[in-house]
Amino acid sequence: MLWCVLVLIGGHSEVVVDSSLTRELALAGSSAPRSVLARQALVEVGYVGFDGKPHRGQLVVDRSLAREVRAIFAEIERARFPIARAIPAVAYGWDDLASMRANATTGFNHRPVAGTRVRSAHARGRAIDLNPIQNPHLGRDRLGLTYDPKRPGTVVQGSAVVRAFKSRGWRWGGEWRRSQDTMHFEKP
Ligand SMILES: [Zn+2]
Repeated sequence: MLWCVLVLIGGHSEVVVDSSLTRELALAGSSAPRSVLARQALVEVGYVGFDGKPHRGQLVVDRSLAREVRAIFAEIERARFPIARAIPAVAYGWDDLASMRANATTGFNHRPVAGTRVRSAHARGRAIDLNPIQNPHLGRDRLGLTYDPKRPGTVVQGSAVVRAFKSRGWRWGGEWRRSQDTMHFEKP
């Protein structure tokens, strides 16, 4: 809770808090089995918003990834890559389409891969979607979005964001052979 203190003493250098759930609230109503829920950690992350201000948000990920997710977001913040908001999927009723419409960066969500019955890596808290509005799943986008590498907040090949994840063994969906999922990172 260090950032709360920083908000108070920072005065004019205000931090925008996008999410401040408890772990219990962040997992409420999930359809995941108890064994999966027990492994989920609530991670506080800092980033620069599209407004250029420092933001604080939260991500739910498997507890084995909590530490590196913090490090990855610290790298993204240093690169000043903007993130709209990091808010757990519970805030959108676990509805993938609703959290994408809100441009929420999310991790854990116990759901199948869109349009299939296959469990996504999100269902185990081993995937993160970044700025879904700027980074559509090409060919499978359900919101009529476009991918423009020049637009702020867009994940592009060889960028600091992709390096931050890949250097820690994550895979980027933008490098998948079929239907590139440019918002998606996952750790096998
Ligand atoms: Zn994803």
